[in-house]
Amino acid sequence: MLHIQGLKKGFQVAGKDVPILNIPEWTVSQGEKLAMIGPSGSGKSTLLHLISGILSPDKGEIIMMEMALHQMSESVRDRFRAENIGYILQDFHLIPSLMARQNVEIVMSGNRSKTERRELIDFWFEKVGLSDRSRHLPSQLSRGQQQRVAMIRALINEPKLVLADEPTGSLDWETADEVTGLLLDLCASKDHTLIVVTHDLNMADRFEKCVHIHEINELRSARSRSYEPVPFISS
Ligand code: ADP
Ligand code: MG
Repeated sequence: MLHIQGLKKGFQVAGKDVPILNIPEWTVSQGEKLAMIGPSGSGKSTLLHLISGILSPDKGEIIMMEMALHQMSESVRDRFRAENIGYILQDFHLIPSLMARQNVEIVMSGNRSKTERRELIDFWFEKVGLSDRSRHLPSQLSRGQQQRVAMIRALINEPKLVLADEPTGSLDWETADEVTGLLLDLCASKDHTLIVVTHDLNMADRFEKCVHIHEINELRSARSRSYEPVPFISS
């Protein structure tokens, strides 16, 4: 479902190119549920931004569902993203002035009637245990509840690919565990492909597959090896 080939990405900092990612080849199969771990600053968020088409690579190609993501025009790519990718972030990004259910409704297609939209929203709020909170403002919800609303918003259009960037990063342990379970349940019942970036090894443990970014990013693994301290040799 996702194939990355010859991908390079760096950033310009103070006029200098700083290389971040060099991924010769990486494939994620349809329906795979994958956790990605790696130290802070190793390029995990950058990679998710590239996969979602928000950022463009310097070199290489990202093929998603047999389409070259960065050969599309920007407007086509925006539509492709809206139809096929659900993105969950650590900080929810809910609109504070809108009720929880309105935060979900704004991403729903105008092709559905008002009644259809209402019923589908009710169904999802019930599914995540928030039926009695759908008319609350984000500020009236706990962090775990806000993350559930953000999850509904990412999943309600049934995207083929779900990306989550440290979705439990700002939650306490118990809530993080609940949210992880819920995300896995919601995606398991569908054939969604799921890529979750996490620091949280408890979360990563619950996934059928876990990849360390250094396994796919040659640049960083080469660099981190060269920085390994020289072992102390006793005389
Ligand atoms: P991670 O998510 O693994 O913590 P990121 O992908 O956010 O790492 O960042 C990888 C590296 O790229 C970091 O060193 C970060 O400082 C740098 N970086 C990210 N975005 C930018 C940007 N817009 N401009 C310059 N450097 C950036
Ligand atoms: Mg990050």
